[in-house]
Amino acid sequence: MATNEDCIFCKIARKEVKSEIVEETDNFFAFLDLSPRTKGHTLIIPKKHFSNIMDLPALYGNELLDIIKKVGEKRLKEGNEGFNLVMNNFPAAGQVVMHAHIHLIPRKKEDGFRTLG
Ligand code: 5GP
Ligand code: ZN
Repeated sequence: MATNEDCIFCKIARKEVKSEIVEETDNFFAFLDLSPRTKGHTLIIPKKHFSNIMDLPALYGNELLDIIKKVGEKRLKEGNEGFNLVMNNFPAAGQVVMHAHIHLIPRKKEDGFRTLG
């Protein structure tokens, strides 16, 4: 399925719904999360509608890695000391928006944000 009429992230990728754009490539779109866990919390999505990572064609792998690294580099240059990549796949794992997305969450040592480990 290339697009989903009712999908908020499809609308954001088509720029029908406003978002704070961070990066854009041919097939991916990165924008600020509406409820940031830390400053600069960014969502990276395929422009086409895929529900989760299981639907995402492997041929997108290089482009996805490139945009993740671009956003990561940008956040590090802003003074962050690291970042978490989080991807919730399926509702049981906490996925709320059913359009595949990767959270890039900028981190500083003493930010108090809790993740794995
Ligand atoms: P999930 O739990 O599905 O991995 O996370 C979905 C994320 O999308 C949440 O962090 C939520 O804040 C974000 N989100 C939901 N709706 C919108 C929206 O309309 N615009 C933006 N920028 N982020 C959204
Ligand atoms: Zn969608």
